[in-house]
Amino acid sequence: MLDGKRIVLGVCGGIAAYKVADLASKLVQAGALVDVVMTASAQRFVAPLTFQALTRRPVHTDIFAGWLDEHTGHVALARSADLMVVAPATAHTIARMALGLSDDMLCAVYLSLSTRAPVLVAPAMESGMYLHPATQQHIETLRRRGATVMEPGEGHLASGAVGVGRLPEVPEIMAAIRRELGKGGPLAGRRVVVTAGGTQEPLDPVRYIGNRSSGKMGYAIAEEACYAGAEVTLISGPTALPAPYGVRVVRVSTARDMLAAVLDAVKEADALVMAAAVADYAPAQVAEHKIKKADEGQALTITLTRNPDILGELARMDLPHLVRVGFAAETQDLLENARLKLEQKKLDMIVANEAVSSIGADDSQLILIGRDGSVEHLPRMPKQDSARLIVGRLARLLEDRGRTTTTGAGGAAPQP
Ligand code: C5P
Repeated sequence: MLDGKRIVLGVCGGIAAYKVADLASKLVQAGALVDVVMTASAQRFVAPLTFQALTRRPVHTDIFAGWLDEHTGHVALARSADLMVVAPATAHTIARMALGLSDDMLCAVYLSLSTRAPVLVAPAMESGMYLHPATQQHIETLRRRGATVMEPGEGHLASGAVGVGRLPEVPEIMAAIRRELGKGGPLAGRRVVVTAGGTQEPLDPVRYIGNRSSGKMGYAIAEEACYAGAEVTLISGPTALPAPYGVRVVRVSTARDMLAAVLDAVKEADALVMAAAVADYAPAQVAEHKIKKADEGQALTITLTRNPDILGELARMDLPHLVRVGFAAETQDLLENARLKLEQKKLDMIVANEAVSSIGADDSQLILIGRDGSVEHLPRMPKQDSARLIVGRLARLLEDRGRTTTTGAGGAAPQP
């Protein structure tokens, strides 16, 4: 999605400017054309040559150098940009942008951009400066005018103090950039619920029954749906993964918790992707105290009871607008079992895992089976890539559903 995109990267004078060199490099590696604009103070921290070498393009530092040149002037840069990113955004530049001052290249590009392309601001400054009402008001002004201003991170600051004001990490800024670029994407205006990870069914205060699911597939789908413009709720079992940028995360532990969270989230949703590995059984009793070891030779018997089947429960509910995607991991008769689940759980698509060994791995080999009988075998690929394909299919399913519900097939009548 970054391939061929034109990004104006405005760099301000803060120590975090050195981290933005890495951001520029990552953007170029992803295929973007990056035009760096530096304030005078930024050049005291990092030389323009650093950015020139990383982006293989001229770096813009002087508003008068190009002036109205059709390639390098501020108006030309603004006209060609798909997105403007300001990082690190200092209190000084945030104030200048909010006030509409235009006698430096960065602010002139921002003003010339007007509302043509999205603006992403990644602040980095001392806590006191960030929290000062003046800065907060300027941030509010920028947000009101449509810019996305990221929340700075907390932790060690250049002054030696610990607090809020760290530049968001580069992967987080990359995710925010993808989110901005995807705002008008195929899932724009759609609300998508994704479940991920395995559930944990407690046995006693310290033990549980679980499975090997890492959550990677569901998290990747949540991210890709977000980059395609959707408003995403991710209902996650316990995982080691960080919350994806721009996604609302609801953390749950047991299958019953997950059922409650899903029922609540789907009320407002257009689609549900059940990538979670939900435990089919839970211990009938949860011991109040840690279960003691019995004498040698004596077996411990645990009675399990059936958990609710989340997709099964939904299949019985009247939710005609909801597009449903399920997953199937089987060790035998994969296609046959997957098709059976598609029918029983009233799914629009089921994603069958060719190998259960991909559970917990970074790659997977999937088969996409549609309600219409279509079968698509995907080659083995990173989960992020298969997630992108699944999201593409989801967008098509939503489009088809929109058509059937507005043409009167059990849905709302078309509006005049
Ligand atoms: O029946 P099975 O567990 O193999 O079905 C897999 C699909 O059903 C997955 O999408 C999974 O998230 C969902 N599922 C569920 N509730 C359960 C078990 C599985 O929704 N209790």
